Amino acid sequence: MNSILHLIGGQLVAGSSARTGDVYNPATGQVSGKVCFGGKEELDLAVTAAKKALPAWSETPPLQRARVLFRYKELLEAHKDQLAALICAEHGKTIDDARGSVTRGIEVVEFACGIPHLLRGDFTENVGRNIDSWSLRQPVGIAAGITPFNFPAMVPMWMYPLAIACGNTFVLKPSERDPSASMLLADLLHQAGLPAGVLNVVHGDKAVVDAILQHPDISAVSFVGSTSVGEYIYSQGTAHGKRVQALCGAKNHMVVLPDADMDQVVDALIGAAYGSAGERCMAISVAVAVGSIADTLVERLAVRAQQLRIGPGDQPGVEMGPLVTKQHLDKVKSYVTLGTQEGAKLVVDGRSLTVEGCEDGFFMGACLFDHVTPEMRIYQEEIFGPVLCVVRVPDFESALELVNNHEYGNGTSIFTRDGDAARTFSHSCNIGMIGINVPIPVPMAFHSFGGWKRSLFGDRNAYGADGIGFYTRLKTVTARWPTKIRAGAEFVMPTMK
Ligand code: NAD
Repeated sequence: MNSILHLIGGQLVAGSSARTGDVYNPATGQVSGKVCFGGKEELDLAVTAAKKALPAWSETPPLQRARVLFRYKELLEAHKDQLAALICAEHGKTIDDARGSVTRGIEVVEFACGIPHLLRGDFTENVGRNIDSWSLRQPVGIAAGITPFNFPAMVPMWMYPLAIACGNTFVLKPSERDPSASMLLADLLHQAGLPAGVLNVVHGDKAVVDAILQHPDISAVSFVGSTSVGEYIYSQGTAHGKRVQALCGAKNHMVVLPDADMDQVVDALIGAAYGSAGERCMAISVAVAVGSIADTLVERLAVRAQQLRIGPGDQPGVEMGPLVTKQHLDKVKSYVTLGTQEGAKLVVDGRSLTVEGCEDGFFMGACLFDHVTPEMRIYQEEIFGPVLCVVRVPDFESALELVNNHEYGNGTSIFTRDGDAARTFSHSCNIGMIGINVPIPVPMAFHSFGGWKRSLFGDRNAYGADGIGFYTRLKTVTARWPTKIRAGAEFVMPTMK
């Protein structure tokens, strides 16, 4: 049995807690590993290691920190297949999808390689007579990251590459459901030359998360996960004096106007709703059919949803793998049952699917609901599985109102050939990330990722310029070098003379 240990101060350690968690291969349903669950003690050790490493690392010139990241990028590229295989084995998504997610993570490392430029300050000569002023950014100190199961490599890579590039040290708490990818990521970073203690990995559940939130030496917490947990982390973390960014749950709508190219729409919806078995915070879970197109759209989606090739993610040609755990599979299926009770029309029912040779795997087929309405819980709540809800609306204005009234505001998209409608939509949506004929508009590493409303707590998005802002503190220096003795003390507010 594979044992997954903590990484503290460059050493793999089991810790003193006897608690462990089962890690499954979702395709077979078998336990593939045991992950150590840390608590306050393990977290204290990790913070001690991070604190010890901080002075030297934060004083290392950004150019030298960048050189470690350049080497890291090469190692990540060389190990991309190994990372994808680990992700597939513990999360269940297909190898190609896993590889794509690693690439999106590597893009953040590439962005972080530009840290000497990104940390350049601003200088103003003569803010007053013979007085100069400049601002600079310094590391916050020790930062922590708490990450979800659905992107076991990419989401951690939204955090620690930028945090350490900025001169911080870091404690990562990966999802306990698929922790192995984080261990390989950390190992490669040490091979690239990162000093021990700069990046530490502590596994576990609420106990270790609470220890992070309460630790006085942790200055910043980045969280990605569900809204209920994220809200807790934001309130607890800020109550303990930390800056917190908590990126949370979603219910992303794709609005389809009658003039949209129906082939493109169907392709986009099938990929965005059922890719990664719907376990993406940017998955499309609601299709908003505007006007007369609804019947055609539902008919065509139903055909395609039933043709999906479902199986273990490491088999060629598979388009959708299993869900992450039996518990999550049961939860998603229970939402499908709820939808039928609420009066939605279940056009495609994938609940009874079994995959030959993988009868104990956590598989289900695609599900498609029609005639879903805003009062239904299957519309309001995040299901996080391969379940697409179609809501029918009469016109563009009703579609926009629907999107804006939802409590989540992560992503949305519109499919149309009408530039005026698309512009009005992107301008008027209270949503963080908008796609125009793009179903999953995940911003590139040099922009920033984040939702609005109950999809994000805190005021900084992940990565990009916002990431730099989150992991640094702004300092502004004002200086003069008087050439003669001044008249004496000044008791009025200094103004420019
Ligand atoms: P989760 O909230 O259950 O877990 C996230 C992290 O929090 C894990 O590390 C977990 O160990 C920890 N955790 C869980 N319960 C906790 C508790 N009670 N107290 C303290 N810590 C706790 O989320 P998940 O199921 O792993 O991931 C799926 C969720 O993440 C979905 O809601 C999805 O939308 C969201 N997500 C959001 C984004 C985004 O950028 N907005 C990206 C990816 C995933």
